[in-house]
Amino acid sequence: MSRPRGRQELWDIVINLFKGLAITLRQLFSKSCTIQYPEERLVWPPRTRGRLVMPRNPETGKTRCTVCMLCQRICPNGSIEITTRTNEAGRRELVDYVHHLDRCTFCGLCVEICAFDALRMSHEHELAVEDKARLKRRLQEESVEFNETWQGGLTK
Ligand code: SF4
Ligand code: SF4
Repeated sequence: MSRPRGRQELWDIVINLFKGLAITLRQLFSKSCTIQYPEERLVWPPRTRGRLVMPRNPETGKTRCTVCMLCQRICPNGSIEITTRTNEAGRRELVDYVHHLDRCTFCGLCVEICAFDALRMSHEHELAVEDKARLKRRLQEESVEFNETWQGGLTK
């Protein structure tokens, strides 16, 4: 059986009720910290790690990849699959550069290890697909135009 409430106890309840209402009222007129996605978008910090991309030189149309294979070796979960061939001059050439987006943890190690600045992490982060096969990205074919002022990559 609950004991009868004293005057002090009732007074505390009223005070706390008004304290709660004051917080609600303050929040009602303060600036919202949420946004109306997808109509509204946040501006991402420059070092945001989105989808891996392979920039290409707009003049030559070529990427900077020298097929050193370091990115494939350092990737902790085998997300990078590089296919090469040896040309007539006996040099190794890039045939296919596959990035398995479904395995990637966006750790950025591949970008950091590449001494030729051939990889960048873009700000593209809306990567949901209905067909899992579409997560197998061919970076050489999808390569984006390289721009020195591009803000989409990890700073080295
Ligand atoms: S992307 Fe960079 S690290 Fe990877 S194979 Fe090409 S040059 Fe080497
Ligand atoms: S970001 Fe990390 S997990 Fe993703 S491909 Fe590069 S090294 Fe592999």
